[in-house]
Amino acid sequence: MAGIYLHIPFCKQKCHYCNFYSIASLSSKDDFLKALISEIQLQKKYLSGETTGTIYFGGGTPSLLSQDELQSIIDKLHETYDIEDEVEITLEANPDDLHSGKIKELKNTGINRLSIGIQSFFPEDLHYLNRVHSDQQAMDCIKRSQDAGFTNISIDLIYGIPGLNDEKWLQNLATFRSFNLPHLSAYGLTVEPKTPLEVMIRKNRMQDVDDNQIAGQFRILMEFAENNGMEHYEISNFCQPGQYSQHNTNYWFGKKYLGLGPSAHSFDTQSRQWNVAGVRKYCDSLYSGIVPFETETLSDEQKFNEYVMLSIRTMWGIQLDYIQKNFGSMQVDQFKKATLKLIREGYLKKENKSILLSKEGKLFADRITSDLFIS
Ligand code: SF4
Repeated sequence: MAGIYLHIPFCKQKCHYCNFYSIASLSSKDDFLKALISEIQLQKKYLSGETTGTIYFGGGTPSLLSQDELQSIIDKLHETYDIEDEVEITLEANPDDLHSGKIKELKNTGINRLSIGIQSFFPEDLHYLNRVHSDQQAMDCIKRSQDAGFTNISIDLIYGIPGLNDEKWLQNLATFRSFNLPHLSAYGLTVEPKTPLEVMIRKNRMQDVDDNQIAGQFRILMEFAENNGMEHYEISNFCQPGQYSQHNTNYWFGKKYLGLGPSAHSFDTQSRQWNVAGVRKYCDSLYSGIVPFETETLSDEQKFNEYVMLSIRTMWGIQLDYIQKNFGSMQVDQFKKATLKLIREGYLKKENKSILLSKEGKLFADRITSDLFIS
């Protein structure tokens, strides 16, 4: 079962920390939609022989699209690809877009999962991040979505924001709990190069993030999830038992996916390709019937590292049998050797034939992952 990702590259304003490709202008929206419909058709072969179980509208801010615009995209996908009846269709939405009329419209399109970018319920955090919505809108949109009949709702929260002390972080988590939602994605604030946040911190115009605060609040998050019966199924993702994001879980399991739209990535298990990250270039190329992408065939080494990087972050961990089957006995032996010290130090644990991050290991996931890479 494959997945389809659609990158909708428009936002009302740029958040200070964001390094996703998007533009804060809707002037090229109509051109983009025309090009996207054309790309849906042109990429048909990429998923030939596959059924599609998940569709994901990400961005950018897909909730800026109208019901008609979303419907025409979904209809075109159904017309072109073999979509399963029980398809999970997720839309990333920002709270300021989710007024009652809009939520009903979304429901009409067949979208059955909302991923809402809340980030924090405190106005000062939203201000620090340069989010466009208010704390009140953050509260209201969740209730409204539930009232409109959406049950599969995830929210995003960010911890490690300067000014978000542990008490406030716990309050954000308690507010999440009060809505009884099935899914939470929570990220430590990262200062990405060349973002407005990085520039302003460098110029001492904004307070820097503190790694100790991030680590402490990640511990609080893990304890919160445990105390509330949630599955910590990927480093940044938590859910009520079994309520995984099917789309993202497929990424972590190395399944095939097609990415459509500027900057979107696709993966067919042997190679990956990525579209140009520019709306104008994207449109111009598609108007001449060419999908503007670059591609890279993965070497065995890259495939191995990719498998380690994706699976170690999940609660299912790295499967020794998978390494045996796909990379051979020598690789299993080498990998086992590489894990010995990390198991002794308590960062990894072995359960049956799986290698998993321990709670402590989850705090150092990136460093541990690179220790297990082959080069
Ligand atoms: S709304 Fe999302 S994609 Fe747009 S700037 Fe903010 S974080 Fe980035």
